[in-house]
Formats: sequence, C-alpha cells, structure tokens
Amino acid sequence: MGFFDTVVDTVTNAGREVGDKAKEIAETTKIKNEIAAEKRKIKEEYEKIGRLYVKEFKDRPNPLFAESVNKIAASEKLIADKEAELDDAKVFKVCPNCGAGMSADSKYCSKCGQEV
Ligand SMILES: [Zn+2]
Repeated sequence: MGFFDTVVDTVTNAGREVGDKAKEIAETTKIKNEIAAEKRKIKEEYEKIGRLYVKEFKDRPNPLFAESVNKIAASEKLIADKEAELDDAKVFKVCPNCGAGMSADSKYCSKCGQEV
C-alpha cells in the first residue's frame, strides 16, 4: 500500500469512527429521553395518587401523610388569602390629587375632597 492509500485509509477509518461515535451519542440521547419520559410518567402518577389521597382523606389523613396533607392545606389557604388580596387591590382607587387610596366605588376622595 502506497503512502497515498495509507492516508486515504487512515482518513476513512477516522471518518468511520466519528460516524460510529455520532450514532452512539444519538442512541444514548434517545435512551436518555425515553428514561426521562418514563420518569415523567411516574411523577405524574405519584401526583395523581397524592391528589386523590388529599381529596379523599383531607380531613382524616393517615399519620404517615398528615404532614404533607397539612402543608398542602396551609398552602391552599395562603393562596386563597393572596387571591383575595389581589381582588382587593383591583377594586382599589387612588386619588389623582393627593394619592390617597379608596375603594373603587368612591366618588370623592375622603382626604382632600377631590372628585375621583
Ligand atoms: Zn385626594
């Protein structure tokens, strides 16, 4: 085999190795994505079980689950309070003259008398 043939052979083999490596990476990525998809399914099912459990046993949770059930209840209460706060903020009006706050249905500012 001449020098040129050897070079061509080396380059061809290197190309083949790169191709094999790319295929290997593609296969690995595919498998990793499949694993991630299955993990997502498991997570969704766990979540479903949790939702069903809380829905069913919110008021009488097994001591094993009481801490989590109570944390969820506390967070739900906080969310409800925050949402009520948001609603209050919406019906709030600010006087263009003095900047005092008032309810949305106010016609005059209680501080400076400005019509609002
Ligand atoms: Zn005012």
